[in-house]
Amino acid sequence: MKRTKIASILANEQTDYDVVVKGWIRSVRNNQFIALNDGSCLANLQVVATAGIVDEETMKHIVAGASVAVTGKVVASLGKGQRVEVQASTIELLGKCDNEQYPLQLKNKPSLEYLREIAHLRFRTNTFGAVFRVRHSLAFAVHRFFNERGFVYLHTPIVTASDAEGAGEMFRVTTLSPTAPPLTEDGAVNYKEDFFGRCTNLTVSGQLEAELGAMALSEVYTFGPTFRAENSNTARHLAEFWMIEPEVAFNDINDNMDLAEAFIKYVIQYTLTHNTEDLQFLAQRLDEEEKLKPMNERSEMGLMEKLQFVVNNEFERITYTQAIDVLLSSPAYKKKKFQYDVQWGIDLQSEHERYLVEKHFKKPVIVTGYPKDIKAFYMRLNDDGKTVAAMDILAPGIGEIVGGSQREERLDNLLKRMKEMHIPTEEMYWYLDTRRFGTVPHAGFGLGFERLVLFVTGMTNIRDVIPFPRTPKNADF
Ligand code: ATP
Ligand code: MN
Repeated sequence: MKRTKIASILANEQTDYDVVVKGWIRSVRNNQFIALNDGSCLANLQVVATAGIVDEETMKHIVAGASVAVTGKVVASLGKGQRVEVQASTIELLGKCDNEQYPLQLKNKPSLEYLREIAHLRFRTNTFGAVFRVRHSLAFAVHRFFNERGFVYLHTPIVTASDAEGAGEMFRVTTLSPTAPPLTEDGAVNYKEDFFGRCTNLTVSGQLEAELGAMALSEVYTFGPTFRAENSNTARHLAEFWMIEPEVAFNDINDNMDLAEAFIKYVIQYTLTHNTEDLQFLAQRLDEEEKLKPMNERSEMGLMEKLQFVVNNEFERITYTQAIDVLLSSPAYKKKKFQYDVQWGIDLQSEHERYLVEKHFKKPVIVTGYPKDIKAFYMRLNDDGKTVAAMDILAPGIGEIVGGSQREERLDNLLKRMKEMHIPTEEMYWYLDTRRFGTVPHAGFGLGFERLVLFVTGMTNIRDVIPFPRTPKNADF
């Protein structure tokens, strides 16, 4: 007989049919009631092992962590807490589990920090099962959203010789010997002898290549891994993270905002519809975590309420200049509560972004029109000559979740800006060619997938929403 997944047994109205179920034991009660989980859903299946169906020796190994195959009948449950259970006729032990060494005994609730150290096993907890099922749904919804709108999924390179932001922070990719690399006559490392015949890095963004695609396919998006060797040990930064980057020909900054807002609402609604049980569990987890905080730091909304709110309300749209004004006239500023100074021209710090979103507007905020000096070379210069058509979306509890812009499509402006910012124009001929050969207005944005997963799951550390986080001094597993 074929294996039936626990999710489908629990969703099935029928009873009194035979099944084979396989999974990992979460707990055993009274030597008789086995809570079995196979990851297909949050809930465990209760397996009833009446005396005699398992020999004494095997019964010793029916413990938390062990894996089993159960043959039996789905029946209505007399006990509380479940509608149906499986009355086992045979239980086959698939894999033993050393009880002494298994770190996921249910006795004490393990902390998230501890579970990070055993990331290879944490999938087996309710929390991480829920997080990774929601993560999957979000990824699926991303593709569904763009597919429904006729976007082409473009795979941009992971190894690249260009740096989209014109900044450092990249991981070098090389096959040269670390101890004795070939040298040039003047003693520098000779990258001509490297695998690609030049210096290469892991990509920080697929945007520039996505722009090339958009200049023919009109609507494209990327969804792939990006790498940043930034030494920021925060709860919102990873060295390896996944980014979604749509790029759309003929879109201006307003179309770009509309697209980003529709996108975020769509993927959240998708999980609300398809992951209700997991989200409700995560909401409860968050409630418990919030209760440990002082009153004034607790969020006003529960997770479900927050997600519903985001789906049902328009994002606030303000300019950078308005944002600075709000900050300057805020009680927090007047009482000198901000660590960093506020004045026109600053890059908004996380404390400023959080004030705007959590205290002032109490909803996601799209900020546009940033000073050109704090933004990338490819952003379109506004008519005022000092701001660019950039947009950041700030989310409650997260801060920046999206960074995007209308791109500078005018060749002269772009060249001028690249020279000012010391971006090599000859090397980037391929990027400039799009402005030479039929340039059009276009816009796009980058959304950090893990920040989205953080927002939707209510988890608070980005290390807890990617299976195996890469952060400074850590590449375990
Ligand atoms: P931040 O100011 O938070 O460092 P950024 O301005 O460097 O972000 P962008 O270069 O605009 O970010 O990247 C686009 C999006 O990618 C961000 O809005 C964010 O959601 C995400 N992102 C950026 N850096 C990281 C990181 N190190 N880990 C996870 N997500 C990131
Ligand atoms: Mn950054």
